[in-house]
Amino acid sequence: MASRTRYSIGVDMGGTNLRAAAIDGEGNLLGKVSGSTNLGEGREAVLNDLVSGIRALRERFGTGELAGVGVAVPGFIDIQQGFIVGCNNLPQFDGFPVRDEISRRLGAPVILENDANAAALGEKWLGAGRGVNDLALLTLGTGIGGGIIVRGRVLHGFVGMAGEFGHMTVFPGGNPCGCGNNGCLEKHASATAVGAMARLLQLGDNLTSKDVLEIAQGEGEPARRASAVFETMGTALGIAIANLVNIFNFPLYLLSGGPLPAWDYFAPAMYREVEKRSFTWRNTKTRIEKAALGGEAGLFGAAYLPFLELES
Ligand SMILES: [Zn+2]
Repeated sequence: MASRTRYSIGVDMGGTNLRAAAIDGEGNLLGKVSGSTNLGEGREAVLNDLVSGIRALRERFGTGELAGVGVAVPGFIDIQQGFIVGCNNLPQFDGFPVRDEISRRLGAPVILENDANAAALGEKWLGAGRGVNDLALLTLGTGIGGGIIVRGRVLHGFVGMAGEFGHMTVFPGGNPCGCGNNGCLEKHASATAVGAMARLLQLGDNLTSKDVLEIAQGEGEPARRASAVFETMGTALGIAIANLVNIFNFPLYLLSGGPLPAWDYFAPAMYREVEKRSFTWRNTKTRIEKAALGGEAGLFGAAYLPFLELES
């Protein structure tokens, strides 16, 4: 028998594959499907896979009980028009009216959200930010994305591009970034940046942040150099977070992504910078913590979007 529970469907187009989940209003996962399509296979394949995943869940859990569909996508989005404006992972979706196209194929309304914003919302709903209405999440991956939650909702800015923490300037004259700036946070504190710094220090080519952590946990000169990489990363993060603390006075800042297991190596430098640069930090009980949902955060956040819309 199909469930009679009211539920929503969240879709995450982030990473390399599509995932969709049916989740009820209390955050219970009812069912999940993973798309077989690699995002590199082109727009039509991705759209077909996405829509068939949603349909499969809708048939299983009931059309009448469906509160709505939320879709998290990588890249910049134009929230009003439902476009992906710029996205390295999905070039064929650039400027494409993805929200309306999915909605047309499904015959149901769709809410679009940037994947990092969705992740922040997921953490607020069911993760490390549960019960906290004002927070920021920084996702340390290939680049650094982020989401800002104010009064329980995503802060979008005027077109939906708010929360691009990765392009905050932390070292004027630092490493050049694809965005046109120099010294962006993501050039000094992303998982990619950790690997790049390790290479510059001759620790090896194509290292992941996990590889660099393993070297840091070893002994001798390479361990010292690997530790220095995380110290630089922590310094950059601390400068960025101090600015956020000074601007927002949120009680909670969350970090997620590949370099998180290296917390003990980068956090001392991070805390040192925040302590030094933020009066607000020194005089409040502000917290910086690890996010809790890992790769599921965006999926849960996407599913939360329709429930939020029903509340408003
Ligand atoms: Zn940049």
